[in-house]
Amino acid sequence: MPPWTEKIAQVPLVIQTKTKTSIVRLKDMKKIFFIIPSFIFMFTHFIACKGQSNTKIDTTMQTQTHHQEIKKNQTFEVQKTDQEWQQSLDAEQYRILRQKGTERPFTSPLEEIYDGGTYVCAGCGNQLFSSEGKFDSGCGWPSFYEALDQKQIITQTDNTFGMTRTEILCAKCGGHLGHVFNDGPKDKSGLRYCVNGKSLNFIKK
Ligand SMILES: [Zn+2]
Repeated sequence: MPPWTEKIAQVPLVIQTKTKTSIVRLKDMKKIFFIIPSFIFMFTHFIACKGQSNTKIDTTMQTQTHHQEIKKNQTFEVQKTDQEWQQSLDAEQYRILRQKGTERPFTSPLEEIYDGGTYVCAGCGNQLFSSEGKFDSGCGWPSFYEALDQKQIITQTDNTFGMTRTEILCAKCGGHLGHVFNDGPKDKSGLRYCVNGKSLNFIKK
């Protein structure tokens, strides 16, 4: 073995160490490059459902409606224990209706349905919206410009995510439906009820 091979044999150790460091850094960079666009995508879609007509982000999107505000000690006609709700709903319905979750945009089959019929609460069957009040908002969630009956939906001020929005809930079971905004069709009510498809069941005429 030539005498220089011993010296060379030490070199790869250094290179190996640096290479490992480089690989780790490269992995971190890949994560960052993945996380940043994902965050931007999620945030833009989140905002899309909040106020699509605004060019700048408006943090105050409270909407005045004719619905009743939730009362301090509001009681609901349909009452179930948390365990009963978990048994009667699927996991995603439970997360949205009972834990105020939001489904991913453009995932609900109900978004694309324009057949005649009625949209009822997936938690209790309360009739909430008619197909006649539905429109294509392009925001990624089923959208309506009016409720079937003002009394069947109640509202609550929602201050989460650094914004002030108007949450809509089923008046019969208190299930979270989504939010209502004032950027709906101007020739109708001007309102946009942005509803999670999982909160609804569609009953075709
Ligand atoms: Zn309900």
